[in-house]
Amino acid sequence: MPNLKIEEPDIIKINNNGIIKLPEKIQEKLNIKENESLKVLVCNDNLLIKKVNCTFCGNNIYEELEMYKGEMVCKDCINETSELSISI
Ligand SMILES: [Zn+2]
Repeated sequence: MPNLKIEEPDIIKINNNGIIKLPEKIQEKLNIKENESLKVLVCNDNLLIKKVNCTFCGNNIYEELEMYKGEMVCKDCINETSELSISI
């Protein structure tokens, strides 16, 4: 069983569009910045939010990431991969 460290909870509000705001202290602690990507998962009755990055280069800008063959990959890395396959 993993050793989970659960800190004092913050209570946040969900607005009528389903938008939530992460508390600033959590953004600072986890180094979450504007336009970065977060993955939302449901685990039993729990909601998990995780940072997500390009599998190859670590890019985590939301507009640049796509799911590609089951992995999160940025557009630059997808382009690089397709250029490689063309040149073979
Ligand atoms: Zn990448």
